[in-house]
Amino acid sequence: SGRVFSGIQPTGVPHLGNYLGALENWVSLQNQYSSVLYSIVDLHSITQPKDPALLRNNILDMAASLLACGVDPERAILFQQSQVSEHSELSWILGCLTSMPRLRHLPQWKVKSKQKNEGSVGLYTYPVLQAADILLYKSTHVPVGEDQVQHLDLAQDLARIFNYHYGDVFPEARALLSSTRKVKSLRDPSAKMSKSDTQAMATISITDSPDDIALKIRRAVTDFTSEVTFDPETRPGVSNLVTIHAAMATITVQEAVSRAKGLDTGAYKTLVSEAVIQRLTPIREEFQRLRADRAHLQNLLELGNRRARELAAPVMAEVRHRVGFS
Ligand code: ATP
Ligand code: MG
Repeated sequence: SGRVFSGIQPTGVPHLGNYLGALENWVSLQNQYSSVLYSIVDLHSITQPKDPALLRNNILDMAASLLACGVDPERAILFQQSQVSEHSELSWILGCLTSMPRLRHLPQWKVKSKQKNEGSVGLYTYPVLQAADILLYKSTHVPVGEDQVQHLDLAQDLARIFNYHYGDVFPEARALLSSTRKVKSLRDPSAKMSKSDTQAMATISITDSPDDIALKIRRAVTDFTSEVTFDPETRPGVSNLVTIHAAMATITVQEAVSRAKGLDTGAYKTLVSEAVIQRLTPIREEFQRLRADRAHLQNLLELGNRRARELAAPVMAEVRHRVGFS
């Protein structure tokens, strides 16, 4: 038993990292738990302001992507974060229980505030909103990639701090990591693959054409050794390809390395491309079909929004009462 919650930002089409680090797990968990919520977290996506028309479009495209990956709205509540206003309300209350130094060292802030000259207050307090997302539904299990683990720790701390001040309301929420915890950028294997990366060649999106996939993998940064080995510390580029290959072909890393025997990295890249293309082709086709019907996607989200509101309202009423607002 328990409740699963996770979110994804509508900052672009999901990529291999999102798929292997989180979405694949989302799909298998919806068959294991009876109460599952997946959110398109649009409030998070404006920590770096977005063009409104583009954002509106990205939200529906994200819905289509998630469905194409196998999220089933009959089993999971698929909804849009901003349409459930309790997220923002709980975030304020949790923010009042969070110290500034606690947020300063979190990864999202360190990476993204550097990309701009200065980070916004929203970017800084983003992990508090994320804690609110999770706690609002008294979630117990949160499938995420490795880059989110420290944010999950904050959510656990805030549950404890809230419970300490106001009485037992929130359960502890555990991170659920998939076997592929982190996919690296194809241009810079010291960084993770990210939707918001401006270099198109750095990420493989789940809707890329076979030609694009082959080109991006061919150009992927490796090193000067032609033999294929798996050693993420000293050979992060090649090892990232091995990770991708293994996950997409559903084989072990050892098996992937043994299939690379006798191939140089150039020839191996072809093998990796084939595995990725084979796996993504049905997803891309399904995405193209689903994204055409905007009204249908909108209706699905509205249904999910209503169901999420029904779960959020009583928890928020309890929180207001505990805090002394009633
Ligand atoms: P953005 O650059 O806009 O932050 P993102 O690619 O980091 O986009 P998110 O929407 O922030 O994607 O995260 C969605 C989920 O995908 C989270 O669970 C996150 O941990 C996971 N994830 C993101 N990037 C990777 C990656 N490179 N490897 C594994 N998991 C990842
Ligand atoms: Mg991210």
